[in-house]
This record gives sequence, C-alpha cells and structure tokens, in this order.
Amino acid sequence: MTIRGDSSATGVNADATAAAARVRGWLAGARRCLVLTGAGMSAESGIAPFRGGDQALWARFDPARLATPEAFAADPDLVWAWYLWRMAGVRAALPHAGHRALAALAGGHPHLQLVTQNVDDLHERAGSAGVVHLHGELFALRCAACAAPAALPALPAAGQAPALRQPPPRCRRCGGAVRPGVVWFGEALPAPAWQAAEAAARSCDLVLVVGTSGLVHPAAALPAIARRHGARVVEINPSPTALSGAADLCWRATAAQALPLLTDASAKPGG
Ligand SMILES: [Zn+2]
Repeated sequence: MTIRGDSSATGVNADATAAAARVRGWLAGARRCLVLTGAGMSAESGIAPFRGGDQALWARFDPARLATPEAFAADPDLVWAWYLWRMAGVRAALPHAGHRALAALAGGHPHLQLVTQNVDDLHERAGSAGVVHLHGELFALRCAACAAPAALPALPAAGQAPALRQPPPRCRRCGGAVRPGVVWFGEALPAPAWQAAEAAARSCDLVLVVGTSGLVHPAAALPAIARRHGARVVEINPSPTALSGAADLCWRATAAQALPLLTDASAKPGG
C-alpha cells in the first residue's frame, strides 16, 4: 500500500480501517508525539472558521479588519461587541468525539503534546490538559494597556440578538480597555507557546496534523520542523492541504470521524 503523498493526486487513499491501524501502530511506537489542531477541528463543533462568518449582523464586517490592534484602538466598542458574540458562540458549542479522543489518547501516552491554532476552549472542556494555544485564548482576557488579567463578563445568552456596540470592561488596575486573549493580525505569537510547540516538533517521533489548512504561519511550519528531525507526519483532513505533499499518510476524514478510531477502546476486538 502506497500511502505517502497527497491522496488526491495519487488516487491512493488509505481506507479508514487501514489508516487507523497504521497510525495506532505509529502512536504505540512513538516516544513523543505532537498533535497540531486547526480550524477544522472547531468547525465540527459548529464554530465558524475565522473567515467564514455568516451571522447576519456581522456578515458585512471583514474579520481580518476587526481582529487587529488598530481596529480595537480605533473602535473598541465595535470590536468588543464582535468578540462578545464570538465568545457566546463558543460557550454554546460542545466538544465532539475528536476532542474527547485526543484527551483519551493523551491519557494513555505520557509524551503527547497537544498544540492548537484554535482560540476556543473545546480541548480543555473535553479533558485535555497542558494545551499549547499558538494563537492565544479567547477567554484569557487581559488589559490592552498593562496586560493585567481580567475577569470574564456576562456573555449574551444563546439566541439573544447580539449588540453591534458594547464598551469593553475596564481594567481594575489601570482603567485601560480589556481585550480578548487572542493573537491579532500583526501581533507576534506568545513566545512561550511558540517555544513549547517548536520544542515538541523538534523532539517528537510522530506528528498528527488535524483539521488545518497549513496556510497560517508560523504554525504551518511545525510539521516540516518535525519532519526534518525525523518524525513521521500524518495528516487528518477531509481535503488536500498545503501540508499534504510532505505527509507520510494522508487520511481523508474529519477529526470526529478519524480520531476516535485511534483510541484504545476502538482497538479492541470487534471495535
Ligand atoms: Zn490595565
């Protein structure tokens, strides 16, 4: 069975059973494993991809123009209202079987590092600990002026019409505007998160790349870093991506379809 390369280009697509068996074997033999998750993982929980907003109120706004320090400085009420709406959407979403499977895998593998590009908390709510958030965390609010942590305010109830403008809370230390804990366009990744992710890429034997387009850098460089250091790369994604060509195995499935097949429960006879 030829499994290297982009299945869409070669016409080869390991079927789910074969792919799961192969990856389970690699997982069992790996001393250290890196799992990198992206927007596709959250999309399966109903959280719209960052650039795919279809909510009527916000459809006319370009997220790329709201998610910047400049936009927040120029119109904090507009940007904060947008984030309140996004936070309410994440609160209403639930982790899926793929999130739960990754938590279970980590429980059985002492050196599995989960790195995500997602800013939601679905991995944590599924039971994963020590998740590295490359692009920050939506709910880790902080002061835009002095960086002091800030408490989460009440979120709009599900179904409640979102406001178009809402003043951000004020910092209790300095009175500055409170902002979401995400990395905005033009901002650097949090250094500790990037360092942890890169260290995991350098030291792992196996990378699972799940639900990411491979277009957002520097996160997209992590599989290549791992590969240069001798790791196998497995891509789990329904369609080919920029990373497919460098993967040892491309498994064309969603996270919720594929990841549960990697857990111990699924490996038992009859499972
Ligand atoms: Zn402050």
